[in-house]
Amino acid sequence: MRFGLQCRRCGKQKPFEPAKTTCACGGSLQVAYDLERAGRTLRTDALHGRVHSMWRYAELLPVERSAHIVSLGEGWTPLLALEERARDLGLGALQVKCEERNPTGSFKARGASAALSVARAHGLRRIAINSNGNAASAAAAYAARAGMEAFAFLPADCPGAIVAECVQYGARTCLVDGLIHDAGRLIREGRDEQGWHFIGTLQEHGRAEGKKTMGLELAEQLGWRLPDVIVYPTGGGSGIIGMWRAFAQLRALGLIDGDLPRMVSVQAQGCAPIADAMRSGGNYVPLRGVVTSPPTGMRVPLPPDGEQLLAILRASGGTGVSVSEAEIADGARELGRCGVSASPEGAATWAGLLRLVDSGWIAPGERVVLFNTSHSGKYLPWRMEGVPCVKNYAAWRKLDQESAR
Ligand SMILES: *Cc1c(COP(=O)(O)O)cnc(C)c1O
Ligand SMILES: [Zn+2]
Repeated sequence: MRFGLQCRRCGKQKPFEPAKTTCACGGSLQVAYDLERAGRTLRTDALHGRVHSMWRYAELLPVERSAHIVSLGEGWTPLLALEERARDLGLGALQVKCEERNPTGSFKARGASAALSVARAHGLRRIAINSNGNAASAAAAYAARAGMEAFAFLPADCPGAIVAECVQYGARTCLVDGLIHDAGRLIREGRDEQGWHFIGTLQEHGRAEGKKTMGLELAEQLGWRLPDVIVYPTGGGSGIIGMWRAFAQLRALGLIDGDLPRMVSVQAQGCAPIADAMRSGGNYVPLRGVVTSPPTGMRVPLPPDGEQLLAILRASGGTGVSVSEAEIADGARELGRCGVSASPEGAATWAGLLRLVDSGWIAPGERVVLFNTSHSGKYLPWRMEGVPCVKNYAAWRKLDQESAR
């Protein structure tokens, strides 16, 4: 076999099963590849002619046969250099990984592509997901592509545009009076009766493996020289968990060497269990009593494997930052002025960057990559407030002169 499962705690190996994620010892199981075999074909010179999607790294994805791949052209997103901003901030380089360019407008497409491919390979045809929005709309689109049934459960305050997307892709969509983990509980309760394949965060292996391709791609796009710091808007954590795994595998394959990036988790102040735990030095990731932040991908009060996430952040020499809604709004404007359509999550990375440059945690000359995980369009209000509305040129001109005064 090209891949199987291995326990992070006791090291025991098992054959691959899509939804087996915990070992008898209580440790978490993750996909382990035959890296010697992968390394025979996954070589830098062999990559040039490959498909411009995340499936160019097929050796490191848990799908045996290419006929099982469910793809909408995900991955291989631009890495945009912000030269002027880098100069202003005294950085060696500042780049934005433009994940909003993925199908369905977020990096969740990567996870959904891998998860639905694994499902197809194992004959699973009824998938269910709890999500703050983007994971559900991605799952809905890829299920549609695969001809499978999708059931999406989202907190009732999720952005209307994203809920509408789920409906348009044909998912059986339902709002839940509660937060993302309440929606997850609903699925667990109904799983056996409904025969659902549950693809919530870290409930199966496809999604984290798919997100891993962000790390593989970053390395390739940077000429196999990783940045000093990666700033990532964190919710359930599979983005960081996946990327960290990518770096370990690239290192084992001899494709990169030297220090790995310091990983930074950015969260919003109204729900920041990871950032708070990093600051306090604690190991336990508590469920916060009151969640006040708006519904974004970062709003995950109870990350399913917070311990692994904290271990990675610490092993990398990284940190956590929680930023205010005002800082996030400023970040969206700043990135907007660079031509980047920043979601609140992407905007939060800008806010986190400013904090870390101000405090000196990021030193002059360092090379930094921000992840703009989604597109601003998915969060925009249905009706735009504060933008004037006129009937003709004369009315516009009058308004223009008034505002100039
Ligand atoms: C899901 C999501 C996140 C959080 O990612 P995790 O990998 O779950 O930590 C960040 N940004 C956006 C836009 C998301 O949809
Ligand atoms: Zn074990």
